[in-house]
Amino acid sequence: MATQLQTARTGTISNEMKFVAEAENVDAELIRDELAAGRLVIPANKLHLKTNLKPIGIGRALTTKVNANIGTSSVSSSIEAEIKKMEAALSAGADTIMDLSTGGNLDDIRRKLLTRCPVPFGTVPIYQVIEGRGVEEIDEKVILEVIEKQAKQGVDFFTIHAGVLKEHLPLLEKRVAGIVSRGGALLAKWMLYHNRQNPLYEMFDDLCDIMAEFDICFSLGDGLRPGCIADATDQAQIAELKTQGELTERARRKGCQVMVEGPGHIPFDQIKYNIQIEQQICHNAPFYVLGPIVTDIAPGYDHITSAIGGTAAAFYGASFLCYVTPREHLGLPNADDVRAGVIATKIAAHAADVARGLKGAAERDKKLSIARTNLDWKAHLAESLDPKTAERMHDEACKEIKESEESLDDYCSMCGRQWCSVRINREIRKLSS
Ligand code: SF4
Repeated sequence: MATQLQTARTGTISNEMKFVAEAENVDAELIRDELAAGRLVIPANKLHLKTNLKPIGIGRALTTKVNANIGTSSVSSSIEAEIKKMEAALSAGADTIMDLSTGGNLDDIRRKLLTRCPVPFGTVPIYQVIEGRGVEEIDEKVILEVIEKQAKQGVDFFTIHAGVLKEHLPLLEKRVAGIVSRGGALLAKWMLYHNRQNPLYEMFDDLCDIMAEFDICFSLGDGLRPGCIADATDQAQIAELKTQGELTERARRKGCQVMVEGPGHIPFDQIKYNIQIEQQICHNAPFYVLGPIVTDIAPGYDHITSAIGGTAAAFYGASFLCYVTPREHLGLPNADDVRAGVIATKIAAHAADVARGLKGAAERDKKLSIARTNLDWKAHLAESLDPKTAERMHDEACKEIKESEESLDDYCSMCGRQWCSVRINREIRKLSS
């Protein structure tokens, strides 16, 4: 069976392409055309499609998508907690989920999450390769076994850190933060220990065969992404990006869909350049950015630093934003952190879609504005990105007003009745009509 990319190249529109076109209110031929050119992907493992997956498209022709990372660690490994986090992410509007678990029974956690996950589901298989093994025990056979096992479970996209090469490692010497990607750091250790090239790079054609068989989308990992703004856009990052560009072409030749992962920590003024070189070097593959975080000094608020960077990245050309939660750099997020991270990233994505003039993107803003102007609280709250929070705050305000005054219809507690410009505007309109 052909992959979505191979199908698109033959000029055929698949059911998944039709589904995505309807969901995004665009022509199915546009989806096919963008897919065939490699500018759009539909991460949809054939096995996940047979159960509960509702496919989505990722690419510049469509709305910017948002990923939420969940997963256990060696210090916290409750499957119930991860299911709760996934539900929080989905209810807040996450378009995809990545399971980055590194603690507990990884196969069981993945299986239980996948059976409840109606959106594309991604993993980083190298985590499971490393789990419970020393670098000396890891070889190509172990890697292929893990990847095949996860493919057969129905995972839709894999982060594969095949772009980190042995010759890139000396470029890290001047870095402040070294390698912050877990996959990148573990592979660097493997290369130094065995004095060999990155095995994921060496066995890339074999990986492509597995990916094509199940139509799993590559998310070419950025193992050397900068981990602080001082390291942004350095030689190591660019050297890896060039390898990601080479791998993008090789994977496409094998019929595989490809996204490319990018930084990380980037000062605001370097975001445009980062996106431009990615598009140029990686042949316009959809760019999947982790944040980017635009300053390092706000632990506890990194959902905000990343939303600032995310808007710029999506405005300049990224198609897919990985959320960052307020607990980034501090601890494993709980369900509330996940929710806050998804909402912040949805705001970033939507703001970029409005700014780049994506068809229909600003309509919801207009609907909400009309409701706001009419003091139509029901529609106002319903159109908001986080109706639950907006409703709670409005209810609290109403309670306050009730306690002090009588009318609730034509103002809220923010400015008070006398100073409510919306109410005064209505009077002005009446007087001038
Ligand atoms: S009171 Fe102020 S915030 Fe509330 S509706 Fe009127 S103008 Fe808007």
